[in-house]
Amino acid sequence: MMKTSRFADIHIHCLPDIDKGIAMLKEISDFGIKNMNILAITYHEFPIDDNILALYYKKKIKEANISVFGGLYYSPFLNYYSVPFKEQAQRLLDMGCDGIKFIESKPDYRKYIGFGLNSKIYDEMFDMLEERQVPIVCHINDPEEYWNEDKIREWPIGERLIELGWLYNNDTFLSYEEIFDEMIQRLEKNPNLNIIFAHFMFLSNQIEIARKLVERYPNLKFDLTPGWEMYVGFAKNFDEWRSFFEANSDRICYGTDTESFPIKKTTHQTVRYAIGGEKDEIDIPNAPFARMRGFDLSQKAQENICYKNYMAIIGEPKSVNTNLLLEETQKMLAMLKRNHGERDVIARLERIYQDLENK
Ligand SMILES: [Zn+2]
Repeated sequence: MMKTSRFADIHIHCLPDIDKGIAMLKEISDFGIKNMNILAITYHEFPIDDNILALYYKKKIKEANISVFGGLYYSPFLNYYSVPFKEQAQRLLDMGCDGIKFIESKPDYRKYIGFGLNSKIYDEMFDMLEERQVPIVCHINDPEEYWNEDKIREWPIGERLIELGWLYNNDTFLSYEEIFDEMIQRLEKNPNLNIIFAHFMFLSNQIEIARKLVERYPNLKFDLTPGWEMYVGFAKNFDEWRSFFEANSDRICYGTDTESFPIKKTTHQTVRYAIGGEKDEIDIPNAPFARMRGFDLSQKAQENICYKNYMAIIGEPKSVNTNLLLEETQKMLAMLKRNHGERDVIARLERIYQDLENK
């Protein structure tokens, strides 16, 4: 059973529609989660203004403590080679971000960007983040099945995943192992990074690797954000994983990937069942075509995972530097107008600018 009622969610995202975005954050708060971390995604296919939007939400919402992990820019219009990543990260932190989000090593983004997180181009930035122990949430890879067409098609949602472009079975994509190795190279350069790997780093079928990582890198952590398939993996090697969770409860964080209004409560149910549910097998609440078991962890482990680790990693959110945020919004607006940016993004940024200026 659940032995704690406090929850902090380390992994949520922005909704681009401001009114719905505010409604979503308030609903999460009403659902009892008073600390939540927005991960901005600034990859070129996403609306480019996610850092600004996330910081705006942070400033706007009074009902809960919102923290924000900002993302680096890769849009050709933002000419990222001319602004070194260390300066970009510094700027995000100065604006009021509490940490940095990396999704660069998800296979399709890795393909677009053309270099890995092990690249020298990131050295100075990671040295700074390590030195200052800035928290990082990092998504690398995807479930192993995404490299294998037959396996992915066995899933009821396989067709949809393929439509999303997440079948990596040709050599334009790096392999699962290659991406993993790039990450290890970065960790060898910066072994003390305060880094949380999203979706348990897709390691639920490879407990040996998870064990080695927590032994070797003292500040490395995982989040429990579904990926439902992760919970199938845990159930396959149940006793070993249960011991891992008890022994490493200070290395695991509650997360849900919430990015909708209304919010999906079944996702919370899934994560909570893993932590505090009974050992009996049930249909996975947010993916009822598959089965999972609960670890029924000790009270201490549950408190760590659900709340205490979040507070130790992020704590009280930093305040937003409104002047810098206004400056950033103005710069982004000018860039979008110069380059015929999407009209709805421009309208959104104008609304944010006016609202911030009137405060
Ligand atoms: Zn996510």
